[in-house]
Amino acid sequence: MTCDEFFTKLIDGGRKLDEATAKELEEHASGCAECKEVLEGYEVSNRVIDALPPVPDPPPEHAKRVREAAERFCRRKDERRESE
Ligand SMILES: [Zn+2]
Repeated sequence: MTCDEFFTKLIDGGRKLDEATAKELEEHASGCAECKEVLEGYEVSNRVIDALPPVPDPPPEHAKRVREAAERFCRRKDERRESE
């Protein structure tokens, strides 16, 4: 595997590499210091992401409230323009 292939596979693999790909990458990294560093960084960042609490979805009324606030804002702008 070349370094280019290494990066392509790592990026395509996303957050969860399948076992075969992970093995291939590790094999390349064991003989390539540069890629080893990248792979280690990748694993560390994955561990950090996994350790973070999941971000909750915004409540369903959130989008509605944002839209209403935007409408209010636009309306106020229009009113101001009319009174000038
Ligand atoms: Zn390499």
